[in-house]
Amino acid sequence: MATGKTMRAIVKTRAGVGAELLEVPVPQPGPGEILVKVTATSICGSDLHIWQWNSWAQKRIHLPQIMGHELAGTVVEVGDGVERVRVGDFVSAETHLACGVCYQCRTGRPEICQNLRILGVDTTGVFAEFAVIPEVNAIVNDERIPADYASVQEPLGNAIDTVLAEDVSGKSILITGLGPVGLLAVAVARAAGAGLILASEPNEYRRSLASNLGATRVVNPLEEDVVEVVRQMTGGNGVEVLAEMSGNPQALRDGLRSLTPGGRASILALYDQEVRLDLNDLVVLRGIRLFGITGRKMFTTWYKAQELLANGRLDLGPVVTHRLPFEKYREAFELMSNGQCGKVVLLPEA
Ligand code: NAD
Ligand code: ZN
Repeated sequence: MATGKTMRAIVKTRAGVGAELLEVPVPQPGPGEILVKVTATSICGSDLHIWQWNSWAQKRIHLPQIMGHELAGTVVEVGDGVERVRVGDFVSAETHLACGVCYQCRTGRPEICQNLRILGVDTTGVFAEFAVIPEVNAIVNDERIPADYASVQEPLGNAIDTVLAEDVSGKSILITGLGPVGLLAVAVARAAGAGLILASEPNEYRRSLASNLGATRVVNPLEEDVVEVVRQMTGGNGVEVLAEMSGNPQALRDGLRSLTPGGRASILALYDQEVRLDLNDLVVLRGIRLFGITGRKMFTTWYKAQELLANGRLDLGPVVTHRLPFEKYREAFELMSNGQCGKVVLLPEA
């Protein structure tokens, strides 16, 4: 079907800032792979790093490469040996490509595979009219989920695993950092029945999105003492749960200090540099349980995301703030870099 045909794709062609919208060949699915006609894609913070060509991207990305990994679309062709997924299925993709044979994969933890590769980072991406993904990574979506939300499920999974590493129902939570994933975390905490939902974020636009999502109180850490506000709001006890989504070392320290003794911290954020922490004071002597979160549980988290989205328990309306056609990809990356957005969706067809 695809041989000889071309498609538009957002391609990182050169070392340096930016990317280009180019006409490139439509890929062919190999054995165990499916070809997806992309309906919606969404921009992740890591795509912005690739766009900006930071030191991580310089080391990791092999040029030229089609960018992107978050998507939703329809299967139009399947390769040899594909049995579960069929032409016409509405799919999204888990982006962790696991080897299937290492110790972690064989003990039920493929998201932390020892030979982990990431779609659109270590392989060809999905900011294109068509994308090839391995059948094992395809999620067949509930048809009730809108395509833009289906695409956003991948970072939603980050938020689900961070917030729900342990039960949050009827508990107080502090979410530090309200980038796209922090905003999704507010929505998840709300849907999961958390009690007090506190959040911190210097960006005013994002603070207002969090309020719209139902956060109880949103603090500007540049103007208020987060630890003090948490103390006041929790009758002096501190919160039960911290979800660290900022990548800012001070937010992490303040977050840990805001926890009640015996509380739980889940850290999704990645830090530009090594972080100094007083572990005795912030973690050990107060019996804090600390979780590092990588990606999503494969595939438990996806079933949770499907359930919440298909049944209207999670309204991503306030999180998905922009939908732009591929032609406006520069504007989309501009929005991402100045932070005046929640999730930004890119549509191959305007
Ligand atoms: P983002 O960079 O868009 O958002 C971070 C937010 O934190 C920004 O809005 C920023 O203004 C805010 N912030 C900065 N300083 C702060 C402070 N002192 N207090 C509170 N907030 C502060 O990132 P994102 O895309 O929303 O992702 C969240 C984090 O999770 C990032 O660090 C990202 O690298 C990481 N991440 C990790 C995984 C994983 O698998 N572990 C997956 C996705 C994202
Ligand atoms: Zn593995």
